[in-house]
Amino acid sequence: VNGVLALEVMGFAILLALAFYFLSRRTAGRLAIFQRESAKLRALNLALQREIAERKRVQQTLAVAEQTLEQSSKLAALGEMSAAVSHELNQPLAAMKTYLAGARLLLKRNRQDEALSSFGRIDDLIERMGAITRQLKSYARKGQEAFSPVDMGAALASSLSMMEPQLRQRQVQISRILPDNPVMVMGDRMRIEQVMVNLLRNALDATKSERNPQVDIILSAGETATLTVRDNGPGIEDLDALFEPFYTTKQPGDGVGLGLAISSGIVNDLGGRLMARNGQNGGAVFEMQLPILADETKIEAAE
Ligand code: ADP
Repeated sequence: VNGVLALEVMGFAILLALAFYFLSRRTAGRLAIFQRESAKLRALNLALQREIAERKRVQQTLAVAEQTLEQSSKLAALGEMSAAVSHELNQPLAAMKTYLAGARLLLKRNRQDEALSSFGRIDDLIERMGAITRQLKSYARKGQEAFSPVDMGAALASSLSMMEPQLRQRQVQISRILPDNPVMVMGDRMRIEQVMVNLLRNALDATKSERNPQVDIILSAGETATLTVRDNGPGIEDLDALFEPFYTTKQPGDGVGLGLAISSGIVNDLGGRLMARNGQNGGAVFEMQLPILADETKIEAAE
């Protein structure tokens, strides 16, 4: 009995030892897997940290880039603004120079009355330059401009008189077709004249190398007040880029490419449209359309 008992105990002991052996092997296996997984996790963690650091660096670079961009867009706006100022002041300055030279000559010849009228014109031009700078100052407070009725025919006449010095230097045939009744629009006369001067100057420039330069100006009143300026120059090269700021085909010093960009801005502000096309028989055609100010007498008659 003792022997059998001893054998049974031994058998149990062996079984128990075997069970412990397999259990510890499984645990060791699991531990190895666990260790492998944690190593992978550590590697992943490291990669994540590296990525976060990279992101932070990129964000910092982006912030710096944004700052630089803001700075340079401010500078660009400033550049555009100063170019616009010099562009718009150039015309009256050139006219003033011519009138001054004329006045000097007239004074030398003792023709004081005529010299005085030249001075009057210079005075008008100074007034105009003041108005342009005032207007640029009010850019910051956009939308506060006070509009008043403007006679398009009268604005055209004073724009043409601004162009007089250039017209005197060249033989350009200018034809004007105006309706009998005044064409009225609501707006700022100085700015409307600015658009007209830009269109006329472009037409004069375009016809520079024509043998018989001709510019036709047509003012009409229909659904809108429309001013058409047509020339017999070579026509427009790139209709898509025409109104973009700084697009110019002129020599440096002759043009900066702001006239049409400024003009279309002005016409848009007045609720109108500035359009350009090439004429059927060559040359360029510019059309400024502005909302027409209905004649009060007509409104009364309709009522
Ligand atoms: P700038 O006169 O300083 O060049 P604008 O904005 O007034 O600037 O004109 C831009 C460009 O549009 C001109 O350089 C020219 O190429 C073109 N353009 C304007 N008007 C005419 C025209 N009447 N005929 C042909 N091209 C024109």
